[in-house]
Amino acid sequence: MHINEFGIGNAHWRNWVGNQSCIRAACGAPTSEDELCSLIRESTGKGLNVRVAGSGHSFTPVALTNGMHLTLANMKGVRHLDQDRKRVTVAAGTTINELVRVLKAADLSMINQGDIDSQSVAGALTTGTHGTGLSLGNLASSVVGMRLVQPNGDVIVVDESTPDMLHAARVSLGVLGVVSELTIQVTKSFNLHERIWREDFESLMDKHDEMAKTHRHFSFFWCPYEQSRHLYCLPDTSATSKTGRTTDVCEVKVMDITDRPVFESEFEKVAYSSDVYPIEYLPNFHELEYAVPIAHAKTALRAVRRLMLEDFPEAMFPIEYRFTAGDSAWMSPFFEQDSVTISVSGAPGTDYWSFLRAVDKILRSYEARPHWGKMHFLTGEDVSAIYPRATDFRSLRRNLDPEGFYLSEHLSPLFK
Ligand SMILES: Cc1cc2nc3c(=O)[nH]c(=O)nc-3n(C[C@H](O)[C@H](O)[C@H](O)COP(=O)(O)OP(=O)(O)OC[C@H]3O[C@@H](n4cnc5c(N)ncnc54)[C@H](O)[C@@H]3O)c2cc1C
Repeated sequence: MHINEFGIGNAHWRNWVGNQSCIRAACGAPTSEDELCSLIRESTGKGLNVRVAGSGHSFTPVALTNGMHLTLANMKGVRHLDQDRKRVTVAAGTTINELVRVLKAADLSMINQGDIDSQSVAGALTTGTHGTGLSLGNLASSVVGMRLVQPNGDVIVVDESTPDMLHAARVSLGVLGVVSELTIQVTKSFNLHERIWREDFESLMDKHDEMAKTHRHFSFFWCPYEQSRHLYCLPDTSATSKTGRTTDVCEVKVMDITDRPVFESEFEKVAYSSDVYPIEYLPNFHELEYAVPIAHAKTALRAVRRLMLEDFPEAMFPIEYRFTAGDSAWMSPFFEQDSVTISVSGAPGTDYWSFLRAVDKILRSYEARPHWGKMHFLTGEDVSAIYPRATDFRSLRRNLDPEGFYLSEHLSPLFK
């Protein structure tokens, strides 16, 4: 397979939500690891930078390049399923949705999932994508092996026998190599019981710790206004809060493992895990999400809520609030830190920058770490300050890719 070089007209790529785009010099869609290796070798031989686009669901410029843009959409499918150890090896271009269909048929489940399942497995895992659950790590924490294609086309095999490489590569945004396949720890299939209701902010804060401890998954959307719910397509629940409020209320969701049979009513359901996790979004928001150490969780949330109500009443999108357990991936926002994630959004086409900057300022003061796939204002110095293993990560990156073929305008200042 050879590099497909473009005329100017069809060289354009944009992400799902449409806030990031690039003009690529070339693109490639390999169908096997061998083809991927030769494409990369050929591209770097021509001096081209190389980046992979997953499903394009990041809000940040992480997937952009003006060099060789790869899609692994032709490298899909489960390569190996180890029923005894409950491990699955999957081609990097497989979407989460495609993976979980195979798991369901094999009576297995992912340990946790996020709000959508359309991301590529490699794209989701390498940005530190997470779901919610006080004792549940992000999705990358279940990665036990990877194959990483280097700029010269060689493949590095990463697994539990190379713990430093594994901790570095789990969340690495493609700068340590292009992932051709991953091996993930999964678990026995389970059904989730989901319940959704509306609750006053203060009443929910009173039981915050208890809810986080007693439910496998607990999360909520704080909705400043009645119409906030519609912006995120949240269910139009008729169940009002105890005081009947429709503004400054939380739409609460809990999910727990259950043996109850499958059923569905308006705000309650029981189904196979992966049929319950995803919710539907429209590309109508630009999101910022930071992981805040659990000790500051409620204080940080209150500060952002106050900011929205008092200084930015035009900020209509809900705050999404979730939990993630600490992990060992060097560049994970949850590195050795149990956290809550607090997210806010701006509406496309509006000047939301002063709002996002103000949220950034608040959350920084609580030692937060941004989601790599969502809007943030990190500099290289910030990365050094908030990631204890940043120096090790950068030095490993430099050893593997001294010429910076896998960097970009966005990633160089952070990881060079
Ligand atoms: C509607 C919506 C809902 C979301 N919900 C959640 C959520 O619940 N929880 C959460 O944490 N995040 C969530 N996200 C963020 C999303 O999960 C991440 O941005 C994720 O990275 C997107 O995956 P992708 O396949 O689209 O990757 P892309 O955005 O295309 O790429 C992300 C990064 O991965 C790299 N990459 C992709 N494939 C490879 C590969 N094979 N080898 C090396 N590098 C690779 C890219 O180069 C890029 O750096 C959501 C985003 C949207 C738009």
